[in-house]
Amino acid sequence: MSRLPTFALGICLLVLSLLAAGPAGAAPVGFSWVELPGSDDSLEQVRRLPESRWQTLDAGDVFNRGFSDGTFWLRVPVSPEPVNRVLEIGYPLLDDVSVFWVRNGQMIESHRTGDRRPFSSRPIYHRDFVFLVPSKTEPVTAYIRVRTQGSVQIPVAITPSAQFLAHEQLSYGWQMTFLGILVAMVMYNLFLFAIVRDSTYLWYVLAVIASGLVQLNFHGLVFQWLWPDTPILNRYFTVPAVGLALLFATVFTLKFLSVARYSKPSYRFMQAVVIGSGLSVVYGLFGPYQSGIELVSVLAAITTPAAWLIGLLVWRRGQVLGGFYVLAWTPLLAGHLILAISKLGIMPRSALTELAPQAGVALEVILLSFALAYRINLERRRRQEAQDRALEVQRQANLTLESRVRERTEELEQAYEQIKSVSLTDGLTQVANRRRFEEKLHAEWKRAHRQKEALSLLLLDIDYFKRVNDELGHLVGDDCLVTVAEVLSGVVQRSGDLVARYGGEEFVVLLPATQEDGAVQVAERLRQAVARTAVHTREGVPPVHLTTSVGVATLSPRRDLEPHDLVRHADEALYAAKASGRNRVMVYRDSAAAPAPGL
Ligand code: GH3
Ligand code: MG
Ligand code: MG
Repeated sequence: MSRLPTFALGICLLVLSLLAAGPAGAAPVGFSWVELPGSDDSLEQVRRLPESRWQTLDAGDVFNRGFSDGTFWLRVPVSPEPVNRVLEIGYPLLDDVSVFWVRNGQMIESHRTGDRRPFSSRPIYHRDFVFLVPSKTEPVTAYIRVRTQGSVQIPVAITPSAQFLAHEQLSYGWQMTFLGILVAMVMYNLFLFAIVRDSTYLWYVLAVIASGLVQLNFHGLVFQWLWPDTPILNRYFTVPAVGLALLFATVFTLKFLSVARYSKPSYRFMQAVVIGSGLSVVYGLFGPYQSGIELVSVLAAITTPAAWLIGLLVWRRGQVLGGFYVLAWTPLLAGHLILAISKLGIMPRSALTELAPQAGVALEVILLSFALAYRINLERRRRQEAQDRALEVQRQANLTLESRVRERTEELEQAYEQIKSVSLTDGLTQVANRRRFEEKLHAEWKRAHRQKEALSLLLLDIDYFKRVNDELGHLVGDDCLVTVAEVLSGVVQRSGDLVARYGGEEFVVLLPATQEDGAVQVAERLRQAVARTAVHTREGVPPVHLTTSVGVATLSPRRDLEPHDLVRHADEALYAAKASGRNRVMVYRDSAAAPAPGL
C-alpha cells in the first residue's frame, strides 16, 4: 500500500508536467460582434449595420454567450504582417461557421463549415476551425458568422502559421497521450475483468471509454476520426455520450465504494443520478439538442462534486478505497472548476484551462486503475483472513472433538474395567471367581514353568455345610460363605497369592513360587483361622462354628503336566482329608494324599 500512492503521485506529476509543457495557446485577438435574431442576413446587410450596433471585445476576453438561438457575427480586422498566418476558432462544437474575407471593401474569399457539415468543408483539415489569412501585405477583415444550438463560445486567435504548427505538434501529442493513457487503462482493466470476473472493472472500463469519448468530442476529434462525412451524428452524439459517461461513472462508484453499505441516502442519490443520466441519454437521442446539452450540463455539475463528497463520506466511515476515490476525483473536479472559471472569463483561456478537464480525466483514470489493482490486494487479504478464521474454527472444533473422544475413551475404559472386575469377582463373597482363578492359574503355571519354580494350590471345603443350610437356612449359609471368604482373604496377604471361590462352599488359594512346606503352613493357618471364628449371622441365630478340610498340592510345572493336574492333586488331597475325618490339612503325594507333615 505504501508504495502505491507514491507511484500514483509520480504518474500525476508526469501528466501535469506534460500539461505544463503543452501548447502555449494561440494568440487571441480583439474583435467587434453583433447578435442578430434571424439567420437570413447576408454579409452585405451585416456590413451595412450602423457602427453603434457593434460591440467590442478585448483581446484577452472570452467570448462566451451561453446558449442562444441567434446568429452571431464577428468582425475581425487583420492588419498586414509579412508572415503567413491562420485564423483559428478554438471551439469545434459550433454547428454552423462561415468566414468571409473582405479586402478593400470586396469579399475575396468565403468558407462555410461547422460540425453539422462534413469535415471536408474545412479549408484546413483540423479538429478546430482554422482558416488561412489571405493577405500579408494589405489589411483584411474577417466576418465570421456562427449559429449553434450548443454553448456559444467563439475563441478567435490569429497566429503565425509556423507558430501554429509548432503548437499543434504539442497539442496533438497531448491528445494522443491522453488517448494512450485511456486505451492502456481500458485494456488493463478489461483483462482484469476477464480474470477477476468482477463487474466493477467492466463499469470502470465503460466509464473510461465514455468519458474519454466525451473529452475527445469536445476537442473535435471524434468527428474528425470516426465520422468526418456524417456530421448528422454529431447532433446525436454529444448529449448521450455525456449521459452515458455519467451513468457508467455513477454505477462504477456505487460498486467500487459499496456505497449502499456505508450510506443509504448517498446510495439513493446515486440511484437517482443513474436514472437521470439514463433518461438524458434517451432525451439526447430524441429531444431537442439544446435543452439536452443543458440537462447533462446540470447533471454533471451536480454529480461531479457530489461524487467527490460521497467518496469522502464513505472514506470517513471506514471504506479504505474511499481515499483513492477522493484522490482520483480531485483533479477531475479541479479540472472542471478551472474550465468553468475560464468560461466565465475570470481566467484567461490557455492551454491549462482547455486541457485541465482532460488532464483531470487522465489522472482520475490512472488513480482509479491503481485503486482497482489495490482492491484485488485488499480482497485477497480479506479472503486470507476469512480462511485463517475458518481454519482456526476447524482447529478448535478438532480440539474439542479430540478431548471429547478422550473423555469417552476414558469412560469406556472405566466401564470396561468395571465390567471386567465384575465378571472376574464372585458376586456373593467378593473374592475372585472361578474364571479369574482359571486365568491366574494358567498365567502362574507358565511363569513357574519359565522360572522353574514351584506352584502350590490349596483346595478348601467347608465340613458338613449341607447341615448349616438344612438347619439354619440358605441365607445363613450364604452369610457363612461370606465370612469364611473374609477370613481366608485376611490370612492370605502376600501379593501374588489369590483366594477364589471355586464353587459352592469350596475355595481355592493359589500360591505362586511356594514350596510344599510353605503351602502347608498357609493351609494350616487358614484351617485354624476358620475354626476359631464364630460366625455371627443374623439376629436370633446362634453363632455358627465351622471347620474346613484342606487339600494341598505343589508342582513344579513340566512339559508333560498341565495346570489341571495341580487342581486334581489338590482335590485328591482334599478328598483324603475328608476321608480321614475332616477339619485337617492333607498334602498330595504321588500315589496318595498324605497328612501334612508335622500333623
Ligand atoms: P462334607 O463336605 O463335609 O462332606 O459335607 P457337606 O455337607 O459339606 O457336603 P457337600 O460338600 O457335598 O455339600 C455341599 C453343600 O453346600 C450343598 C449345599 O447345600 C451347600 N452349598 C453349596 N453352595 C452353596 C451356596 O452357595 N450357598 C449355600 N447356602 N449353601 C451352598
Ligand atoms: Mg463341597
Ligand atoms: Mg462341604
